[in-house]
Amino acid sequence: MSEKRSNFPLPLSSVTGPVTRKPVERAPIATPQTATQNARSNSQGAATRAPVQPAPGPAGPAKSQVQPQTQTALPRSDLMATEAPRRAMAQRVARQGVKDPQVLSALEMVPRHLFLEPAMSAQAYADISLPIGHNQTISQPYIVARMIELLRGRGHPLRRVLEIGTGCGYQAAVLSCVAQEVYSIERIKPLHELAKANLRPLRIANLRLQYGDGMLGLPQVAPFDAIILAAAGLEVPRALLEQMAIGARLVAPLGAHVQHLQRIIRTGTSEWTSETLEACHFVPLRPGTA
Ligand code: SAH
Repeated sequence: MSEKRSNFPLPLSSVTGPVTRKPVERAPIATPQTATQNARSNSQGAATRAPVQPAPGPAGPAKSQVQPQTQTALPRSDLMATEAPRRAMAQRVARQGVKDPQVLSALEMVPRHLFLEPAMSAQAYADISLPIGHNQTISQPYIVARMIELLRGRGHPLRRVLEIGTGCGYQAAVLSCVAQEVYSIERIKPLHELAKANLRPLRIANLRLQYGDGMLGLPQVAPFDAIILAAAGLEVPRALLEQMAIGARLVAPLGAHVQHLQRIIRTGTSEWTSETLEACHFVPLRPGTA
């Protein structure tokens, strides 16, 4: 076994100490408003859609990996207090056009305020991206849900999923509700540490975090059924395309000033199809580590 193997995967469930969140250094930044306008325009005519229903029956083997009510070290009162705003947020995202009930119930389940500094927790259930330090942001709930919905498609099983750009760990937690195994890579060490601290009380057994350059993927774990990028490059790194299983899907924001979501499907050993979807706004994908 290589040295890398012995350090990775890092099972979050094995880290059970008290959560001591170090204050994160914050620089004033303009937060990207990922696809808000677009979501609004997508939502036209959706006002009559039924409110969020919890997914009927298990979503597959990964369902119920996040069970904040019963298995975590979170104060129950904290979870109960956010139940209504969490539900309202999921219902809003449904009105904006996200239809997948399992994605919506995952969004409703994950306590987003835990991924933010306490000073910002009042805004945790608004549909906005917010600063998490190091010039990075937690993604807007709508775009998190939309991208995961695009990964799932109709009946596309999410067994092994790779996320590039863990940030504070929020999207990774949502993914862990709808996929069997989730691997997430972050290139900024203090954010990787922050994500670990944020996720620890949730005790998510099917999520592994890795510090490194996500542009290289995780060849030791590949192939993946789905890959999601939370940062925008000009093109999808070749290594990630190569690490997709046949039939796998990849969703990524592409572009510099003007960005669009791109969905790529691997249709053969050396064949991929790609479609350009809605406009969005993400922080940049950068090479190397920091
Ligand atoms: N997934 C996060 C969003 C984080 S913002 C959420 O739940 O809200 C995007 C993240 O991508 C940043 O933390 C940034 O540091 C990271 N990133 C950018 N380029 C990267 C790369 N090459 N490898 C890994 N992470 C990268």
